[in-house]
Amino acid sequence: MKRIAVLSVHTSPLEQPGTGDAGGMNVYIVQTATRMAALGVDVEIFTRATSSGLPPVVEMAPGIKVRHVVAGPFEGLGKEELPGQLCAFTAGVLRAEARHEPGYYDAIHSHYWLSGQVGWLARERWGVPLVHTAHTLAKVKNAALADGDTPEPRMRVIGEEQVVEEADRLVANTDVEAVELVGLYDAAPEKVLTIPPGVDLETFTPGDRTAARASLDLRPDQVVLAFVGRIQPLKAPDVLLRAAAELLARDPSLRSRLVVLVVGGPSGTGLEEPRALQRLADELGITDVVRFLLPLAGGDLAEVYRAADVVAVPSYNESFGLVALEAQACGTPVVAASVGGLPVAVRHGFSGFLVDGHDPAEWARALAHVALDPELRARLAGNAVGHARGFSWERTTDTLLAAYSDARKAFQREVHR
Ligand code: UDP
Repeated sequence: MKRIAVLSVHTSPLEQPGTGDAGGMNVYIVQTATRMAALGVDVEIFTRATSSGLPPVVEMAPGIKVRHVVAGPFEGLGKEELPGQLCAFTAGVLRAEARHEPGYYDAIHSHYWLSGQVGWLARERWGVPLVHTAHTLAKVKNAALADGDTPEPRMRVIGEEQVVEEADRLVANTDVEAVELVGLYDAAPEKVLTIPPGVDLETFTPGDRTAARASLDLRPDQVVLAFVGRIQPLKAPDVLLRAAAELLARDPSLRSRLVVLVVGGPSGTGLEEPRALQRLADELGITDVVRFLLPLAGGDLAEVYRAADVVAVPSYNESFGLVALEAQACGTPVVAASVGGLPVAVRHGFSGFLVDGHDPAEWARALAHVALDPELRARLAGNAVGHARGFSWERTTDTLLAAYSDARKAFQREVHR
């Protein structure tokens, strides 16, 4: 393998994750590209230009280029409008490749269905295999919608079905997702590979909780619950707020010690979501305990994880949940919804707890169980670090590279038949 084309139509690896359309997928692309480049494989990431000021090509790091493709107006185009720009985007990708010698890319890796549509055509034109990662699946998402969330349109379902049919390999984060691809999307089982994502074990390390708290103006005696991620109904940060209100109703003496940190920015169609969350805090009478922080990067985010007694991941759907792994790598137990990949990311009763459903009383019980029992918390925290260390981006990258090679061999056999 010498060069991979990575397609990331709707979000750029140069964006800060935790707000807008940037989240775990961006982290996945950056982390695996970094490790591929270190192994001598060049990575070129195609993404849509969202500002006229962006240069056509940015060298993100040695061996990693980000190519900005002009497709539609730079600003003001929502993700839901991007299907109309896929032809323009594909043309940009094909033109960029046409400036090189034939066989410039060895494989294509597309992320999310919009990129899969582009990859499908590039595969045909270049004669190289398409490896696709869905990140989320519309049929799965629609089966577990949050209240007030809009269902994913039929157009996306059809688009996903087409990509599943056309891709040479489908990468699932967990076995559950692999089963969904086969069962709900009729994917050929031999094309589906489970490759768990990783966690950056250099950034997310256990550390001094008191020092982490001091950096956030928090006291050692406070009970700190944290939510980290894009603020949208699917992620259900409201469940944490409702659970906090429930805890205070049960034990008013906690009020002087309880802190709920909500870290992240608005995302998706619910751009007013953080304000809605602030209103909810107000309605619940807990504005004094809730603190909203803008999206944080690297070391600053690690400090939030270390400062927290427990990190809550109450999502309605989560194809994996990198936040859960990152928190555990920092030595913080996680209470997560028992959905999607979270039962893999969190080991129930060992590194945290899984909660069925989104009943605030249940969540309050689980959060209090961990946060208010120092002995249990310490045991879970120790286990959490070990559990998180079972995942690494190096392993994810090695397995992906093997999948590309394997897909290439199969593709060539197919062509020569
Ligand atoms: N993230 C971040 N800063 C923030 C909030 C989130 O860098 O303020 C990152 C977080 O570290 C994680 C990613 O965004 O790697 C979110 O990934 P996850 O799989 O939890 O959710 P997704 O965004 O993919 O739905």
